[in-house]
Amino acid sequence: MIVIDNPPVNAGSHAVRAGLIAAINTISADPQIMSSVLVGAGSTFVSGSDIKEFSLPLMDPQMPAVIAALEACPKPIVAAIHGAALGGGYELALGCDARVATPDAILGLPEVTLGMIPGAGGTVRLPRITDPAVALDLIVSGRRIAAKRAVELGLVDRLASGEVRDAAAALAAELAATTGKRRLRDLPVKRVDAGAYGKVVEAATRGGKARPQVLEAIAAVGRALALPFDEALAAERSVFQALRQGDEAAALRHLFFAERVAGKVEAGNASAIPEKVTVIGAGLMGSGIASSFLGAGFEVHMLDTSEEAVERGRQSIAAIEDQAVASGRITAPERQRRRDRLSTSSDWSNVGHADLVVEAAFEDLDVKKEIFRRLSAEAAPHSILATNTSYLDVDILAVETNQPQNVVGLHFFSPAHIMRLVEIVRGARTSPDVLATAARIARKLGKIPVISGVAEGFIANRIFMAYRQQCEYLLEDGALPEDVDAALSAFGFAMGPFATWDMAGLDIAWRTRRRLAATRDPQERYVPLLDQLCEAGRLGRKSGAGWYRYEAGAPRGQPDPVVSDLIEKHRKNNQIAARAIDADEILARALAAIINEAALVLDEGVAERASDIDLVLVHGYGFPKHRGGPLFWAGRQPGAEIAAALEMVARACGPRFRRGPVERAITLAGA
Ligand code: NAD
Repeated sequence: MIVIDNPPVNAGSHAVRAGLIAAINTISADPQIMSSVLVGAGSTFVSGSDIKEFSLPLMDPQMPAVIAALEACPKPIVAAIHGAALGGGYELALGCDARVATPDAILGLPEVTLGMIPGAGGTVRLPRITDPAVALDLIVSGRRIAAKRAVELGLVDRLASGEVRDAAAALAAELAATTGKRRLRDLPVKRVDAGAYGKVVEAATRGGKARPQVLEAIAAVGRALALPFDEALAAERSVFQALRQGDEAAALRHLFFAERVAGKVEAGNASAIPEKVTVIGAGLMGSGIASSFLGAGFEVHMLDTSEEAVERGRQSIAAIEDQAVASGRITAPERQRRRDRLSTSSDWSNVGHADLVVEAAFEDLDVKKEIFRRLSAEAAPHSILATNTSYLDVDILAVETNQPQNVVGLHFFSPAHIMRLVEIVRGARTSPDVLATAARIARKLGKIPVISGVAEGFIANRIFMAYRQQCEYLLEDGALPEDVDAALSAFGFAMGPFATWDMAGLDIAWRTRRRLAATRDPQERYVPLLDQLCEAGRLGRKSGAGWYRYEAGAPRGQPDPVVSDLIEKHRKNNQIAARAIDADEILARALAAIINEAALVLDEGVAERASDIDLVLVHGYGFPKHRGGPLFWAGRQPGAEIAAALEMVARACGPRFRRGPVERAITLAGA
């Protein structure tokens, strides 16, 4: 029995690899040993390679040498898989003579999600045990697959009904007594179904936006099908090494580690995760939030002020679930279970039963204050009282209650059942335990929790305001919305700022601007174009027009002469001399505005970690993931270029510009 014991997840680090070689040598040399089992100690097999090692030159023995030793060992070795066998972990299992797994184990080759391709034979061995189209799909998607399905696809030989190591030992003994070694390298590749295979390639490259590692993965499986085993293996390894050391892999590793530390609260101990949740407000956000909780197994009660509002909310949730069934993400019985866990009302009779209340009513301080006053009287004393406010001050709501230590912000992003980011807003009196519990709840929902201090717009919306403000200055200076959007889309944003704004609805920003109008510094450069659009009834996509014009059913808005006329008139009336602005300047200024505000947010302690800011921009606002977030990206640009871009931003903002400690923030992001 070879036991890999490297807590917490048995990552295939250098010491593990060296230990494996030694163990395999012992087994090869010992005439008493006829067969062997490879198994992980603790809760998992090998959940992957040691990603930290990927930033450095890899030390020998490397994983391919371990797998070569498994194959060279004259005795059959069976992988006993429980927990996870991912990446290098599953490749290790593919180097064995057979694979046995527990029914709840998961397998996969997620290397593309870290900017690489499998580097220890995954692309070459997989098409030898399963349909090459299935193999390719697993590799280009990085998808994890459950053991039960894996058996059907040939990725695992047997499911273990009892102890996995016993089942694996039985199979190993069986092999030793019958066929002996059963190396995948000795098998031919499976027959290719050209139609199915072509479909996988087509889906992975659709729209021409496939990342380089996806294209390389397609090429690698293609080589496995066409070339002798060892040639394909060597080519795979050299591509893996090149990608591993590239910028994109570094960026994705940065985000991987950022995600792991996000939401950690030093002094806080999370208490048990609540079971019963009440959502106040059955609108857009309330329904999405309720749906997210239902999907994670919570009992949800949703209330609003009228039966009609509640019914609308119910229907929105039903539509989300129907869509999930239609796309195969959940089964019809699962939909029914979710429905059974949802109750609704237009009164507060149920509020006292909740362990957690999430308020998602109108973005209006008086409405929210009233709700928190009432919660103070009616919610259970232990209940966590959360608000989904986008901008308002959590502390002002907390003082309305007798339990300010239980009040916290849970800021979901729209659509709440899809977007993974949740800002956990720490009020002045929020207890660390409540903060830690809130972060744990977000994790349970499958989300990424990022802790934010109280500030206008928290982390995400505050940085986004600075970004959009700079983009508005670009309009005054000579660009059009479509120029700005094109430059930022080309950089890799999912959508340009003006298209994003239209999608969210311009009225949200309009309302915020009016709220802040009285306190706005008269010296601040202010562009009134958005207000003018809203005054003309152009509220974005939902009203058919905003920064763009929207034809019914069209996937995207069209540039609108009404908007360019409006901009031109505005420039003329204010004697602003427009000039031609190229894509480089647009990009430099928009990104520098983000980076500068990020530095301020970090310096003021609104964000706790530089890496949190990168996560927020990637998962909240579509900053291109492959660039690692704004601070990581900036750390990989020439310092002089960043400084020059900040100068441009400073000039555009005028005397009210506040320069953040950008260099320090970039260093903290550790690019
Ligand atoms: P919405 O108008 O779609 O829904 C608000 C719902 O709250 C309505 O159904 C309304 O009837 C109900 N409501 C109002 N007062 C109530 C009360 N006293 N008790 C119970 N229900 C009440 O608004 P939304 O877009 O879902 O936004 C809700 C909250 O989420 C706001 O604070 C908003 O800032 C925040 N938010 C919105 C977004 C977004 O993109 N829309 C994103 C993040 C956060």
